[in-house]
Amino acid sequence: MLMFNNLIDGEWLSDGARAPNVNPSDTKDIVGEAVRGTRAQAEAAIAAAKAAFPAWSRSTPQARYDILKKASDEILARKDELGRLLSREEGKTLPEGIGEVARAGQIFAFFAGECLRMAGEKLASVRPGIDIEITREALGVVGLITPWNFPIAIPAWKIAPALAYGNTVVVKPADLVPGSTWALVDILHRAGLPKGVLNLVIGRGSEVGAVLLEHPDVAAISFTGSVATGQKVAAACIASRPMKKFQLEMGGKNPLVVLDDADLKVAVECAANSAFFSTGQRCTAASRLIVTAGIHDRFVEALTERMRGLKVDDAVKAGTDIGPVVDQSQLDQDLKYISIGKDEGAKLAFGGELLNRAAPGFYLQPALFTGVANTMRIAREEIFGPVAAVIRVKDYAEALATANDTEFGLSSGICTTSLKYASDYKRNSEAGMVMVNLPIAGVDYHVPFGGRKGSSFGAREQGRYAAEFYTTVKTAYTMP
Ligand code: NAD
Repeated sequence: MLMFNNLIDGEWLSDGARAPNVNPSDTKDIVGEAVRGTRAQAEAAIAAAKAAFPAWSRSTPQARYDILKKASDEILARKDELGRLLSREEGKTLPEGIGEVARAGQIFAFFAGECLRMAGEKLASVRPGIDIEITREALGVVGLITPWNFPIAIPAWKIAPALAYGNTVVVKPADLVPGSTWALVDILHRAGLPKGVLNLVIGRGSEVGAVLLEHPDVAAISFTGSVATGQKVAAACIASRPMKKFQLEMGGKNPLVVLDDADLKVAVECAANSAFFSTGQRCTAASRLIVTAGIHDRFVEALTERMRGLKVDDAVKAGTDIGPVVDQSQLDQDLKYISIGKDEGAKLAFGGELLNRAAPGFYLQPALFTGVANTMRIAREEIFGPVAAVIRVKDYAEALATANDTEFGLSSGICTTSLKYASDYKRNSEAGMVMVNLPIAGVDYHVPFGGRKGSSFGAREQGRYAAEFYTTVKTAYTMP
């Protein structure tokens, strides 16, 4: 049995209450046992990170590079084993789990390089004889609060830049999936991080998370999760003395537009991948398929056929396309929205029923609604499951207006062979990430990630843009 313990000031701590980490593909399978961190442990972790900050923020770029690169090498070397752990605890398929671990390894390699590339600017002053230097400095202790749906990639894309730019860290993963973050922290610890630089406190948001939000020694919070929690995070960061810098990555209701001139095969693959892979549990998932009238019926028929061929089964079983829903409460939410969709008058064209497999798990046949109006709740609220809504529109103009008619703005896509419509959509889509003829859920790791409107707040994550959040700018004037 794996024991997921807390790392505080360089020591693994196993004391306190524990909770089982249950495999959603087989609820009889206990992946491991996780500690339930306390307020006192969160406070100790913050104190350790504060004490470690002066030395770490002044460490050489080479020292930071060496540790991050070593961690990257180990993550990549162990991607199959760690991918299995991830798939067992979260329920995404084994190829998806291994892919996510590989992504975490690549992120650490990228930010290892960034340690060596930190640059400033030197300008002449508008006043005679004065030099101006603009440099970036670390913030201090940063608190990282992560969701359950990317148990290693999201912690990686927060921890790697935080450390690369010289901050010290307290990370609190979602208590549903503590194993992958624990494995990542273990690798970084053994790669040679000085004690206190990276601390792991597994536990409840209302307990451990709340301490991070309130504590005066935490300079900044990077949060990914739901809108409801994000709003609490923002309010707490503003109320704290001193106020904290914060960034929020939250929900989505992402549109994929399919125009009459689209390549049908491409459109169906983009829709199936974006809406249903990873069990639809991606903030970038396409949950609104906005389809023009001329292709609508052919698209629905071909997508339904594709869905019929998708194998929903144990996440680690060979040939599984879609794993289980993460837990009972998310499954209840998915079923609730399927019932809301029917009550609202949408037609359940395919799926939506519970499935029995060899072991007891949270298996749901992906669901497709047609006849959906963009005003219905299933078109407006984030479901976070394998449930997609087809909205029929008459032309491109209505498609664009419908795509933008949402409180969210994370990712968005269009399938078309027209350069004119593709260009117009890229320009006018109110989303942080726009894809043309591609699944809208997949992104690269060396470019900015994030959204607008109700999906995100603050600086972008990933790529070189991560420096915007994890550093503060200093302007120094010198009269030589
Ligand atoms: P959640 O908001 O329930 O929890 C996220 C994290 O916040 C967890 O670690 C949780 O323990 C913690 N938390 C909860 N209450 C807290 C509190 N009062 N104070 C401090 N911390 C608290 O979200 P979830 O269910 O884990 O994840 C699903 C959500 O995440 C979806 O809405 C999804 O769209 C979103 N998400 C967004 C992105 C993105 O980049 N935009 C990526 C992945 C997931």
